[in-house]
Amino acid sequence: MYIVQIASECAPVIKAGGLGDVVYGLSRELEIRGHGVEIILPKYDCMRYDHIWGLHEAYRDLQVPWYGAAIPCDVYCGWVHGRQCFFIEPRSGDNFFNRGCYYGCDDDNMRFAFFSKAALEFLLRTNKRPDVIHCHDWQTGLIPVMLFEIYKHHGMEYQRVCYTIHNFKHQGIAGANVLQATGLNNESYYFDYSRLRDNFNPFALNFMKGGIVYSNFVTTVSPHHAWEAHQGDCGYGLGHTLHEHQHKFSGLLNGIDYNVWNPEIDHYIPFSYSPEDIDNKIKNKKALREKLWLRHVNQPIIAYIGRLDQQKGVHLVHHALYYALHRQAQFVLLGSATERGINDWFWHEKHYLDHNPDCHLEIGFNEELSHLIYAGADMIVVPSNYEPCGLTQMIGLRYGTVPIVRGVGGLVSTVFDRDYDNHQPPEKRNGYVFYQTDNQALESAMDRAIGLWHYYPKEFRKLTLQGMEYDYSWNHPGKDYVSIYEHIRH
Ligand code: ADP
Repeated sequence: MYIVQIASECAPVIKAGGLGDVVYGLSRELEIRGHGVEIILPKYDCMRYDHIWGLHEAYRDLQVPWYGAAIPCDVYCGWVHGRQCFFIEPRSGDNFFNRGCYYGCDDDNMRFAFFSKAALEFLLRTNKRPDVIHCHDWQTGLIPVMLFEIYKHHGMEYQRVCYTIHNFKHQGIAGANVLQATGLNNESYYFDYSRLRDNFNPFALNFMKGGIVYSNFVTTVSPHHAWEAHQGDCGYGLGHTLHEHQHKFSGLLNGIDYNVWNPEIDHYIPFSYSPEDIDNKIKNKKALREKLWLRHVNQPIIAYIGRLDQQKGVHLVHHALYYALHRQAQFVLLGSATERGINDWFWHEKHYLDHNPDCHLEIGFNEELSHLIYAGADMIVVPSNYEPCGLTQMIGLRYGTVPIVRGVGGLVSTVFDRDYDNHQPPEKRNGYVFYQTDNQALESAMDRAIGLWHYYPKEFRKLTLQGMEYDYSWNHPGKDYVSIYEHIRH
């Protein structure tokens, strides 16, 4: 099959979170399975150009219709660790992708509506006719809409769309101007509840809703989250739409790219290790301490790696930090915040704890350091409010770093409490789970983990090894995505 992925991220060249990992990892897995894959991305000024090989101009002067006129774009082609990627660069005063950031601009909806239009125009003009177009998140929600309302009539009638939702919270909300800009026009037609009209704001169009309505198949990133979004309040107002389209909606757990996240071959860590020589993990712990100026004491290191925002349970992350210090554990945090208040809060904490030899706060995005933390830490805490899938706990498991997680979304499907799990036998359990959002719930899980580390080190080691045995690679999800593609293919 010929598959084109269209997304706003692809790791490691463009990565703000798990979406980037998924686009890269899934594409690699599909290629291993013998399928042809191409990836279309925006050409941001701030992406990691050092991860692109052979970047060259592939198409000059692509005229992308916009507000009845056209914006010329140049499309570049390059290889990101073996994957063929096309980067779209518009030439207009809007400077859509030259903002020094991936997201967070006031006109994000128009930036990604334009990207979606340009990606389809690129496929059309270059006569690329993939069997399946796989789109991701709100940024590309208009692709199936435009494909089936416009491009179908220009020679793209056989293309099918799989649409994956990584986060229901951000849906892409716009007014009627997006219809004029993209050439969809026909306001009364699209402002219909069965199409793009937002379920709660009658004056707004919702890109993600459009993605659900128009795609041939819709997935989210874990079976449990599919249920939460459909039946609970995790769909952020799209539960009804999912219900209407439930016949084509399901949850597939993300995988981890074991070529990238693998302590046996990871170039970013000084000592490679596997379950057979797990003692080398301790050498990485020492290296982590040296790098971050932590003192060498007989204590576990607890880590947090992730965005600092409400979704991730920042108040619990903050509490975990102080509770660890209070309970004879060290704490390492690597995170970045897009919200000003949260950013200021953690910078304040960083200054306050600057001379504390038992913790380190690294505020910002640092791919290289994240690898060393996964390898050097003993436990990783993931206290999310909601978590569609969550990759950090799965990466932690692979690196023998015991996850302490809140039991929501994909965390439920991947972490099984050592003491209380109802489904897995003791030898299959791999971490600690708590359910409430209060400090006490987190404390009780942390207490159990820290206690085991201090008083039953052999048991802790056993738990570590049990976690490393899990296979959360792309092998299974890759197969499932291929079945979906086969199912929707003409
Ligand atoms: P998200 O909700 O952000 O997608 P996931 O758990 O699915 O969360 O994926 C997070 C990915 O981003 C992981 O690969 C994690 O290692 C990485 N990551 C998150 N924050 C940072 C950071 N500040 N520096 C480096 N990597 C990070």
